[in-house]
Amino acid sequence: MIFRLLRRLAEKVPNTVHRVVSSMKPQVVFVLGGPGAGKGTQCAKIVENYSYTHLSAGDLLREERSRTGSEFGQLIDNYIKEGKIVPVEITINLLKKAMESTMQADEQKFRFLIDGFPRNQDNLQGWNTVMDGKADVKFVLFFDCSNEVCIDRCLERGKSSGRTDDNRESMEKRIQTYLQSTRPIIDLFEKQGKVRTIDASRGVDEVFGDVKSVFEKEG
Ligand code: ADP
Ligand code: AMP
Repeated sequence: MIFRLLRRLAEKVPNTVHRVVSSMKPQVVFVLGGPGAGKGTQCAKIVENYSYTHLSAGDLLREERSRTGSEFGQLIDNYIKEGKIVPVEITINLLKKAMESTMQADEQKFRFLIDGFPRNQDNLQGWNTVMDGKADVKFVLFFDCSNEVCIDRCLERGKSSGRTDDNRESMEKRIQTYLQSTRPIIDLFEKQGKVRTIDASRGVDEVFGDVKSVFEKEG
């Protein structure tokens, strides 16, 4: 009798563990800052040191733009060149799919750095509607530096990036979009006590020193 009970318990334990793990809610850190503030650079270092998957809204949009057969290629291309924010349905769908396929491939990968999102009110509303109760936003990592630093870094990156928006004309528009649309979103999160601000004007390693302190504290 007791052996049968123990055997049944032993059979159940792995199932229970499996169920708990596979139902892990995605844990999200939003990564924001001006164009060229160093979001991608620092996300790569976070991925090396902590168990996070990096999803860049800009990278996902560029991939979708060049995907053969994409119905949104031309539209995305125009928005990116103009430094404007792509309609939220497209961006959120790409982010959701990327999160789902990452977790399907490996259920341990439920921590995400979502870089360059939410960039405006529309993005935020879209997230709240589509992801309500489906993901936890732990905090917002904000890379703070002056517009001049952003412009210099993007123009330098433009020498080799091949990006259609790393030029002076697009930069002016991207900075405007950032100031008008993204800063208010950062302010909104700030009021909720969710923002961890990093001085991004310093060298890569110095910046990462501060990033590390945030992740050691927040887990
Ligand atoms: P973002 O993802 O915010 O657009 P990137 O990480 O691509 O920015 O960085 C923009 C450019 O600036 C890249 O060429 C990168 O090598 C450089 N860069 C990033 N962080 C720093 C830093 N702390 N100091 C100097 N250059 C940097
Ligand atoms: P980034 O790679 O983050 O510098 O983004 C490059 C461009 O992609 C932006 O200027 C926008 O045109 C577009 N983009 C990036 N993130 C978003 C987003 N969250 N919503 C809409 N458009 C975006």
